[in-house]
Amino acid sequence: MPIILHLDLDYFYAQCEMNRHPDMKGRPVVVCVYSGRTDDSGAVATCSYEARKLGIRSGMMIVQAKRLANEITSFLPADMDFYREISGRVMEIIENYADSFEQVSIDEAYLDVSRKCHSFEGAKLLASEIKKEIKENENLTCSIGIGWNKVTSKIAAGLQKPDGLTLIKTEELKDKIWPLDVKELFTIGPKTKEELNKLGIRTIENLANFDMNELTNVLGENRARQLHNFANGVDERPVSQSLRKQISRIATLKENTRDMEKLEKFIDYLAELLKPRLAKAKVHFKTVSIMAISTDLELHTKSETLPEQTDNIETAKNVSKKLMKEFLDERPDAVLRRMGIRVANLVRKEEKQEQGQRKLLEF
Ligand SMILES: [Mg+2]
Repeated sequence: MPIILHLDLDYFYAQCEMNRHPDMKGRPVVVCVYSGRTDDSGAVATCSYEARKLGIRSGMMIVQAKRLANEITSFLPADMDFYREISGRVMEIIENYADSFEQVSIDEAYLDVSRKCHSFEGAKLLASEIKKEIKENENLTCSIGIGWNKVTSKIAAGLQKPDGLTLIKTEELKDKIWPLDVKELFTIGPKTKEELNKLGIRTIENLANFDMNELTNVLGENRARQLHNFANGVDERPVSQSLRKQISRIATLKENTRDMEKLEKFIDYLAELLKPRLAKAKVHFKTVSIMAISTDLELHTKSETLPEQTDNIETAKNVSKKLMKEFLDERPDAVLRRMGIRVANLVRKEEKQEQGQRKLLEF
């Protein structure tokens, strides 16, 4: 029996913002995408649970959200580069736990852990380790659902939010999934829901037991088949391995500093941690970056793309040190609290090369 995890970072953009503005913790935070036509035109991208309590929702017009907001609500513009940076680091943590891993959006991923865990209970332990590592490293909470395929794990993740960990076992399909509203089958939008409601289908159970011919007449064969299968807990879509985008390591310095000698030592230390992971992933890198988090919790990144791809960790060290020097020169008042290095622009080592070597050995 496959064991699949679905991981969803809770109100992701808002959590990222609360980490860099700790005074916003526990308050309504609304992250917006401004369209720029007028000061308030645009929509809400994500909001914290405190904002949800006020009735604010993702997708809502900013003007409408402002009417619902109270005096301690913060409205912030979405800073996608910042969120992507954090997402990349979280995905890297997650990937290490999976047999195969598929990132589906900036804050969601599926993990196939069938080989790694031999039971649902084992998967639950693994999921709590993942949650702990993300919390410790990035101070973010997530909700994880465990099921036997994509659809059941995704439904499980949605049952308990935020900071949830929900397991649905195969024998629990009827108790835990069937009573839910059909809209909880994630591919069902408002339009399909309306069509299903017209047929008298309100719960997942109604859909699971509905006559296929009649369903096909309304939804067409493929869609009817897929939804009927999902409602019966059947989903054959595999977790397809996403190509790793980056490998990074970030850590807190023993003391806040801008002393180049200390930072150089720290770069060596971080690079040595990257080395085995690069080897394991069998990749070359072309871009090296440093991430510097100053005492005011601002994240600064500097990158350099090399003329040629390499897997030489000494190159990563040297480039990182050079970038760090440049950063300190540019920011004479910055004092670092955390720092990281990252290699990106990854290319899989040529299989051809391996084959060539094998041939030589054969002679
Ligand atoms: Mg999310």
